[in-house]
Amino acid sequence: DSLTNLPNRVLLADRLSQAMAQAQRRKSLLAVVYLDLDGFKEINDTHGHDIGDRFLVAIAQRITNSVRQGDTCARLGGDEFVAVLVDLPNSDACTPLLNRLLGAVVEPLTLNSSFLRVSASVGVTFYPQEDLVDADQLLRQSDQAMYQAKLAGKNRFHIFDSTQDAHTRVRHETLARIRQALSATEFRLYFQPKVNMRTGGVIGFEALIRWQHPDRGLLLPGDFLPTVANHPLGSEVDLWVIETALIQMEKWQTLGIPTAISVNLGAELIQRSDFITSLRQLFEFYPQADPRWLELEIVETSALEDITQVQKIMASCNEMGVGFSLDDFGTGYSSLTYLRRLAVNHLKIDQSFVRDMHDDPEDLLIVEGILSLASAFRRQVIAEGVETIYQAETLVDLGCELAQGFAFAKPMPAETCANWLADWKPESALIRARNTALTEGAS
Ligand code: C2E
Ligand code: CA
Ligand code: CA
Repeated sequence: DSLTNLPNRVLLADRLSQAMAQAQRRKSLLAVVYLDLDGFKEINDTHGHDIGDRFLVAIAQRITNSVRQGDTCARLGGDEFVAVLVDLPNSDACTPLLNRLLGAVVEPLTLNSSFLRVSASVGVTFYPQEDLVDADQLLRQSDQAMYQAKLAGKNRFHIFDSTQDAHTRVRHETLARIRQALSATEFRLYFQPKVNMRTGGVIGFEALIRWQHPDRGLLLPGDFLPTVANHPLGSEVDLWVIETALIQMEKWQTLGIPTAISVNLGAELIQRSDFITSLRQLFEFYPQADPRWLELEIVETSALEDITQVQKIMASCNEMGVGFSLDDFGTGYSSLTYLRRLAVNHLKIDQSFVRDMHDDPEDLLIVEGILSLASAFRRQVIAEGVETIYQAETLVDLGCELAQGFAFAKPMPAETCANWLADWKPESALIRARNTALTEGAS
């Protein structure tokens, strides 16, 4: 490298290959150390390239002085350097050396009576590894680790972690596969009715996503949604769900089927600035779908991050006619401020409380607590995960009339919903549930 007189990228590749061969022979370890200066650009911008160049030469010298004889220091270009540390007995052995390196870089320097100071972000990887790796891969790994050091706050080193890396790779592949599934319409919407247990009326359906995977069969949301949570792709999936729900509303409307549909929203979408615009566009696209039939289910934790912002979004939705429910209620913060500030129509009691309320007196207390909170704040309650007639009866006795659960129906494809409805006797859901329990008990 003509500026610093250090080996350049080409010579580094050569030296690294030699060092790798030697490490194999001697059964020792080598470390590839990727070093990128933090804040060098400002020096260049404020003091000019001349000072910048002299600064780099001085830093190069310091880096060379920090390593041992036999180690290689190279400049890749710009403010990026690589050191190859050879003959290490184990990976911990280079820690003092790395600290010395960081300390040497961060030492202030006076040039032309300017007081200059930078720090270094350092990424480290070792050779040999369990898997076969070549020199290029080692450089890439150390570069990646350097980037982690930057993210973690600079002026530090980060050791490349191959398990972490494999994890990231798998995540990338899964994301790509989900993106593909979206364009190949492999996702399906299932619908689960919400009923009034006292009157037997059907108040609407909750849309629940499924993935009809060509190789793995029908996948539940738990199998793939966690990958896209807090990723922009999650918003795309949610928008697909909303659109599909609107299409379904239009179809059902022509068949005279009660058409209220609630959809689940991840944390991403509700906080996206263009959410309202996207929602409006969808309703323009499907004019037969009435916004008053759509309810958005959010969990407290996703609403929490910026309650003022979420409040605004909810107000805009309400203006359109779109309602909200707070999902999994009781599992998050369940703050009273929330109940007061968020314009939600429904609280959905988390199914864990319903499931355990007969075995655990405290869960019963939570159910009762939620019911009285809801009535104080004039919100309607929907009990989730009602599986038995016994649970249904208890809930009705406690004053909770709305419910969802296997006692009434499992989530099913839209086509099946029509049959289920035709079969459903709107006299009393409790009687119905009792009959189901009886036939199931008999069979
Ligand atoms: P959730 O919103 O609490 O939905 C209720 C879950 O409970 C559904 O699981 C449903 O199949 C299940 N369930 C309903 N009744 C019963 C019952 O009586 N007993 C039992 N044991 N389970 C019952 P599913 O479909 O696997 O969905 C799991 C979660 O995935 C949902 O929980 C929701 O948070 C999320 N999810 C589902 N669809 C979507 C979607 O389209 N978008 C987003 N962002 N999340 C979704
Ligand atoms: Ca839900
Ligand atoms: Ca829920």
